[in-house]
Amino acid sequence: MNTDVDYEVVIIGTGFAGIGMAIKLQQAGIHSFKLIERSDEVGGTWRDNTYPGCECDVQSHLYSFSFEPKADWSKKYSSWNEIRDYIISVTDKHNIREKIQFNTRLDGASFDEASGTWQVKLSDGTKPRARFVITAVGPLSNPAIPEISGKENFNGPIFHSATWDHSADLKGKKIAVIGTGASSIQFVPRIAESAENVELFQRSAPWILPKPDRKIYGIEKALYKYLPGWRLAHRASLYWANEISLRGFLKEKSFIRAFAEWAATKHIHHHIKDETLRKKLTPDFRFGCKRALLSNEYYPALARENVDVIDAGIERITETGIIDKNGQAHDVDVIIWGTGFKVDEPLMGIDIAGIDGQDLNTV
Ligand SMILES: Cc1cc2nc3c(=O)[nH]c(=O)nc-3n(C[C@H](O)[C@H](O)[C@H](O)COP(=O)(O)OP(=O)(O)OC[C@H]3O[C@@H](n4cnc5c(N)ncnc54)[C@H](O)[C@@H]3O)c2cc1C
Repeated sequence: MNTDVDYEVVIIGTGFAGIGMAIKLQQAGIHSFKLIERSDEVGGTWRDNTYPGCECDVQSHLYSFSFEPKADWSKKYSSWNEIRDYIISVTDKHNIREKIQFNTRLDGASFDEASGTWQVKLSDGTKPRARFVITAVGPLSNPAIPEISGKENFNGPIFHSATWDHSADLKGKKIAVIGTGASSIQFVPRIAESAENVELFQRSAPWILPKPDRKIYGIEKALYKYLPGWRLAHRASLYWANEISLRGFLKEKSFIRAFAEWAATKHIHHHIKDETLRKKLTPDFRFGCKRALLSNEYYPALARENVDVIDAGIERITETGIIDKNGQAHDVDVIIWGTGFKVDEPLMGIDIAGIDGQDLNTV
């Protein structure tokens, strides 16, 4: 071991990736490591996204560490809080919390060739040295808000799905939702139940399949708990079903893709009776070219009287609402960004300099 370093390994981020990495280092007998987390708790995605209806679209028995099974998931696809509680419990079980420096951001890191070590710049002003730096900062941790002119002038509450403003009362309000991605399709049905109306600004319609979700019953939980082989077989079946369907989406012509398009179109037709709305909600690209989504509630919500889908594009935001590209004004009380995350910044724009000072963001 290099005694000139503060830690052998510095891990940035405490979502699934950071916590999983820390546990595996510990199990490999490497104890000289530190995790740096900008927030005040572990969980990453599942700590930050607390919007109504937030849940996973990978089955719980697969969306969990293989080495930390949980027999008592409450339903097939878990909600954000059950996943967050799971990560917290795994962190505490493995005594990882004591290795985490919370409320501290990685601001940069540079590699010193002479000593073969990294110097890490942290927001508390310290600069620890480490032999390895592992970025586990997440692909979806920085919200993306489009440059729409006038957004700073809007008079009412305006927030992103990842930083949901739970103090904003949405009951009886006129709400504009911008974006129709994975988060919007989950929260729109929830807010539509009590809003006066919801105007959903759509750039492109996603492919959405029915979600085969349901409660997991006590007898099943007991089987998963007392028959580990049964749980393992279940996990393996989920894994292979997901892998095989993904392979189907990689080919231009495949039965799986054709079947998925047929099932998703049928899903639209089953819930949406209005021809114009059906057309708006039918994607203009092949299934699998963008993330396919699962929901049983989205289309029924869009069929409600108090929900409109606007695909005219947004011209600007005013003090009282949105002007679309057809020049029509939409007066609203609240604007919610369902516009996803900055996925084009794999290192989150953090200044990381490798050999010869090369900026790793541009390699
Ligand atoms: C709303 C939502 C729903 C999702 N649903 C699904 C799903 O259904 N199925 C699926 O497979 N995936 C889903 N994902 C993707 C999800 O992000 C990944 O599955 C997984 O949780 C990512 O884990 P991670 O540890 O890589 O990153 P994250 O969970 O994002 O954790 C990254 C951590 O790094 C910290 N961090 C970032 N920058 C810094 C910095 N500079 N300094 C210090 N700390 C920093 C963050 O605070 C965060 O805690 C979803 C994502 C979102 C946002």
